[in-house]
Amino acid sequence: MSLVHLLLFAGLVIAASSSSPGSRLILREIADQKDKAVELNTTNFDSVLKDTPAKYAVVEFFAHWCPACRNYKPHYEKVARLFNGPDAIHPGIVLMTRVDCAMKTNTNLCDKFSVSHYPMLFWGPPIKFVSGSWEPKKDKSEILVIDDGRTAERLLNWINKQIGSSYGLDDQKFENEHALSNITDYNQISQAVYDVEEATAEAFDIILAHKAIKSSETSASFIRFIQLLAAHHLSRRCRKGAAEILVNYDDLCPSGNCSYEKSGGNDTLGNFPICGKDVPRGYYMFCRGSKNDTRGFSCGLWVLMHSLSVRIEDGESHFAFTAICDFVNNFFMCDECRLHFNDMCLSVKTPFKKARDFVLWVWSTHNKVNERLMKDEASLGTGDPKFPKIIWPPKELCPLCYLSSNQKSIEWDHDHVYKFLKNYYGPKLVSLYKEKSVSGSKEETVAATEDLTVATNALVVPIGAALAIAIASCAFGALACYWRTQQKNRKPRRR
Ligand code: FAD
Repeated sequence: MSLVHLLLFAGLVIAASSSSPGSRLILREIADQKDKAVELNTTNFDSVLKDTPAKYAVVEFFAHWCPACRNYKPHYEKVARLFNGPDAIHPGIVLMTRVDCAMKTNTNLCDKFSVSHYPMLFWGPPIKFVSGSWEPKKDKSEILVIDDGRTAERLLNWINKQIGSSYGLDDQKFENEHALSNITDYNQISQAVYDVEEATAEAFDIILAHKAIKSSETSASFIRFIQLLAAHHLSRRCRKGAAEILVNYDDLCPSGNCSYEKSGGNDTLGNFPICGKDVPRGYYMFCRGSKNDTRGFSCGLWVLMHSLSVRIEDGESHFAFTAICDFVNNFFMCDECRLHFNDMCLSVKTPFKKARDFVLWVWSTHNKVNERLMKDEASLGTGDPKFPKIIWPPKELCPLCYLSSNQKSIEWDHDHVYKFLKNYYGPKLVSLYKEKSVSGSKEETVAATEDLTVATNALVVPIGAALAIAIASCAFGALACYWRTQQKNRKPRRR
């Protein structure tokens, strides 16, 4: 075990743990609470507004003793229910929040925004509120005072005017113009960053719930998949969580015998959430279906698989192929899915040598599933009406991918398909982080860049992400080596 590897690993853990742990938890908690507006305070204000996937934020400054504020609350909540929480009718657009200025701890925060009366409402891109302030006569601020939001109707009208929308208070879930279609806008994939995190967390929870690591074979398969995530997951917090599981694996699962309980300690697999504790659940955005029981997790899993495939190097392609095939076969609890997928894995007779071949294999395998489901869903009526299965990418997304096509067959330009996939599931998928960092601080730019990891140039990647590169460049040798050394040096924690 070299000192370099040790430092690289430490870097990964430190870099990853610098994100704001509580903020995602708070976003997730909206799921459980009656009030849909998110209660912010001095401690979580910046981190929640930095982490939200929403494009805009409303911040209500109020005082709990103020009777007008109490009367206003149901109006504010009526609007918040449209935008906040897992049952949001129009998710990912506006984060509705409130700050109680009567709490002493929030005094400075309220002062920074020159709060002169209660309730006082502000509007702006969430990132502009982070370390932000507002002064009455300052022109050109992107933070605006909402001057006409006294009732739910008026507040929603004001929002509609700002963003050119026509939302109504009576809008129902799934009558939702933001349920995209699968001939989607090229840019919408950037919303899938959060879906990939959520699908990763959900996959891990399913493994825990089913106590699915049952044998040395499933244990080895689990480790391979976690290694892949530790090196190439697009989210820093998932890479960190995966790396921590690997380092502790022998203690958590001696001889593949895992303990799964969530006890709050650090001696069971259940206490090592793969993407940290704070990944919101029930928030699928890119993968949100137009019906309750469609899309979501399985869509997120596909996006995870594509995003991993475009991040690996040539030398890892067969490892990644095996890791994904075994993961689906052992841990995807949909019998039909895994049997079909396993057949397609078994049909690969020659080990992959090029990452390009693996990227195209995942793509064509997904299309084979699409092709089969196109027929099944049409005859059974089980599909999502807004997302009928198609052979992908459609011409609208990638005209150059097509050499020719007719009703029966498509002749692909594989070079273009590869280029398209590399960009779509590579930089495009993480571009939301980038955009946020452009308007954010220098510190945020560094954090955002870390999230691009191995997809970016090694020279600009900070030390934490360098572990992933080290692993990538020697086919997981570094992590495997570090992990084994850890196991050897470690005192047994339990029998
Ligand atoms: P999905 O097919 O989940 O695709 C998600 C997104 O990926 C799409 O919106 C699109 O943007 C993009 N995409 C679509 N095709 C491609 C492609 N070829 N390459 C790259 N990107 C693409 N369901 C069954 O009923 N039977 C099965 O046998 C089955 N097998 C499955 C096997 C696996 C490994 C997985 C992960 C899922 C499987 N599913 C199966 C579920 C099914 O494939 C869909 O995930 C589910 O029906 C939801 O569909 P969706 O509309 O969200 O699009």
